[in-house]
Amino acid sequence: MTRPAGLDAFDLTGRVALVTGSSQGIGRALAEGLAGAGATVVVHGRDRAKAERAAGEIADVTGTATHVSTFDVTDAAAVDAGIGALEDALGTPDVLVNNAGIQRRGPIAEFADADWHDLLATNLTSAFLLSRRVARGMIARGSGRIIAIGSVQSQLARPSIAPYSATKGAIVMLTKGLCADLAPHGITANAIAPGYFATELTAPLVADEQFSSWVRGRTPAGRWGDVRDLVGAAVFLASDASAFVNGQTLHVDGGMTAVV
Ligand code: NDP
Repeated sequence: MTRPAGLDAFDLTGRVALVTGSSQGIGRALAEGLAGAGATVVVHGRDRAKAERAAGEIADVTGTATHVSTFDVTDAAAVDAGIGALEDALGTPDVLVNNAGIQRRGPIAEFADADWHDLLATNLTSAFLLSRRVARGMIARGSGRIIAIGSVQSQLARPSIAPYSATKGAIVMLTKGLCADLAPHGITANAIAPGYFATELTAPLVADEQFSSWVRGRTPAGRWGDVRDLVGAAVFLASDASAFVNGQTLHVDGGMTAVV
């Protein structure tokens, strides 16, 4: 197999990339970055109007065609139908980014069953359902890139988010397991573990000045992440440049997990 040399290896022209939860926040930035690298991106969420708005804006900024897909990532039948429709229109995605996720906080002794189940379904089961479904077409084609969005919380615990941390820790091992099953088929599975980024998910933390300044102090880079800080890692892991990188978690956190 001939691989492109140098910067050409990062070119995603002709690739289709589905980024779950890309109607806003981190997923939106990743979709825009992948489109900027040449991919045809599929912008996704539950709210169709929001996803369409984001897809239009990404197309305007990058000059590439974008598509929209809306389904609930926690619903196996909806995932199956959503991917089936995408395959009919565009083929099996070359790149799947399992980004959609939620946060629920609370002390463990008070943590509600419903919040636990929502976290597992949205942050973990979704990645299993999407990866399983898309892997079938990727195996048939003999190539593919699966990228999960983990978290600094897969390595570092904090009070009141044990269930969230558990889902993100599991993403690290799901990623290694996907590597074990899929590497022989020319498919890579890697994760990106962001530190703290200001999005709707972290809005309560950003608004809490004491916590916000703790983030700045605890992050060696001395600041919150900007969603654009994640784009380079995503383009790398989506591209031919990362062909021999598999089962890994890349921490993009300004040094937070490297330093106590
Ligand atoms: P946001 O809340 O800003 O965005 C979440 C996105 O996921 C939206 O597009 C939302 O679309 C979609 N989504 C949520 N639930 C579902 C569902 N059941 N089915 C389909 N789509 C869904 O979150 P962030 O951008 O901050 O987070 C993205 C990922 O990054 C998450 O996995 C999060 O855990 C992770 N992360 C975030 C960090 C941060 O600091 N922000 C740090 C570390 C990791 P819609 O509203 O239409 O459903």
